[in-house]
Amino acid sequence: MPKKLGVYLCTGCSIADAVDTAELAKVATRELKVPVCRTHPFLCGTEGRSLIQQDLTAGAVDTVVIGACSPRVKIDAFDFNHGSIVARVNLREHVAWSHKPKDEDTGMLAADYLRMGVTRALKTAPLEPASGDISSTVLVVGGGVTGVTAALETAEAGYDVVLVEKEPVLGGSAATLKKQFPAVPPYTEAQVDGVPELVQTASYHPRIRVFHSAQIVKTEGQPGMFDVTIRTESGEQTVRALTDRAGVSQPAVSKHLGVLKNAGLVRDRRDGRQTHYSSQPQGLAPLPGQALRTKSLLARASR
Ligand code: SF4
Repeated sequence: MPKKLGVYLCTGCSIADAVDTAELAKVATRELKVPVCRTHPFLCGTEGRSLIQQDLTAGAVDTVVIGACSPRVKIDAFDFNHGSIVARVNLREHVAWSHKPKDEDTGMLAADYLRMGVTRALKTAPLEPASGDISSTVLVVGGGVTGVTAALETAEAGYDVVLVEKEPVLGGSAATLKKQFPAVPPYTEAQVDGVPELVQTASYHPRIRVFHSAQIVKTEGQPGMFDVTIRTESGEQTVRALTDRAGVSQPAVSKHLGVLKNAGLVRDRRDGRQTHYSSQPQGLAPLPGQALRTKSLLARASR
């Protein structure tokens, strides 16, 4: 369906002093064949806006070109909440305020800007809202102090977080320091940095899932629908991570891991208050099918 175009030219803010807006209106109506073209001395005011709104409501116009000030200003004033396309032509800053008033070149410049604005409006299609399942889980890459802090702040704001750290422990290089530079007056004593507490809080936060010794392999999709592949070097998982995927209680997962560990099929590694488990499929060499299943359980949990 052809668009119903309307051009609205503001003569305020010295635009009419620099540009012959009557001639500009002729460019719109005669050359560009725009059916509706109006001028107003204060287009962003109540009266000027209602001029445009009336045309939209009446259905005379569905695509609006506004020749006035910069599109960086008066954004709310020219938001008609109508689903219509609004193209802004900057006649104020780009023409009237920066070029010789009433000069032939200034008029030609204004006409060119108007032609470009009308063309843009004609070629612009309304945006379709994104459809599909939008994920609000936030991926934080890097478990140094900055990453851990970001993960905690995000989790506290109510979002689930996946925190990926390439090293086996969180905290980054700051975790290797006992004390840090003084950050409070009188700045004479090195101070405890609080990194272990920060790491511990993040590790046990119910909204944060941590992948240690892990790297991002692939990121696909688009904002809100990203599909991220994470590779864990060791295949290590905490009981908590395994419980999330196993569909059984945490004590049940712990009990089974204990049995598998005693059988030499699973290895554990302590990291602070957390224990990380990794499969030892070589222990199942005589039973390759079973080894495959055990390995795939941990692999699934690590995805
Ligand atoms: S601020 Fe923009 S819309 Fe308002 S009078 Fe000035 S040029 Fe016109």
